[in-house]
Amino acid sequence: MKDAKVRLYVDHPLGDAQSVPLDRDQAHYLFGVMRLAVGAHILLFNGQDGEWRAEVVKAGKRAGELQCVEQTKPLQMPPDLWLIFAPIKKARTDFIVEKAAEMGALRILPVSTEFTNSDRIRQDRLQAHAVEAAEQCGGTYVPEVTELQKLDRLLADWPEDRQLMFCDEAEVGAAKQLAASSTEKWAILIGPEGGFSPKERTRLHAHPQTHVVSLGPRILRADTAVVAAMTVWQQALGDWS
Ligand code: SAH
Repeated sequence: MKDAKVRLYVDHPLGDAQSVPLDRDQAHYLFGVMRLAVGAHILLFNGQDGEWRAEVVKAGKRAGELQCVEQTKPLQMPPDLWLIFAPIKKARTDFIVEKAAEMGALRILPVSTEFTNSDRIRQDRLQAHAVEAAEQCGGTYVPEVTELQKLDRLLADWPEDRQLMFCDEAEVGAAKQLAASSTEKWAILIGPEGGFSPKERTRLHAHPQTHVVSLGPRILRADTAVVAAMTVWQQALGDWS
């Protein structure tokens, strides 16, 4: 069997002997950048059908075609964990989406809060970062990145069956660890550089599904806090054990 080193996300069904057309960008990447030719093998996933080994059957400058050979991994869903965060500077927001996808979030939800420093995001760019992260980390699932919404609205429509791990910087140094055993539906909430407003904090504390958590004796930057919180959650309740 030929070594399949390249791993590509495609928005196309995958299955036995399924033919997969390539668009211009994909053809450029595979044949121009990676220098693959007819007969080469690559790995494909589409977020739904697991991972497939596929063979290049047509290679052109602007188009091409692959054919699925065999399934190499079944679809592996992450736990039902949402990551909710307030966007920060562009590069750090990109980092948050990339890390959340790698660490196993089911959905990534940017929210605007009272002290959010950026009230616009490019959802399509962030979604592309999630796809790239899945390509690189061997994931077969791509978390959906939702459009920016107001934290207030999200809390107003909060589903009763979802627990909320509220990482509250006001608890810095407090002995408030995640103490829960329900592995059902969860969300992690990380605030912006400016933290949460007193009003938001009061509202979050009053929420019946809230679990207030401290991430240790130091204040972490929001991007660090995302990775730390996801580590804690995955270790305690997720798919790491
Ligand atoms: N400017 C704020 C800190 C914001 S840190 C201040 O000085 O108080 C950004 C986000 O990371 C916070 O809103 C919180 O969700 C999370 N965070 C950072 N350090 C934390 C800690 N020690 N405990 C809990 N959450 C923390």
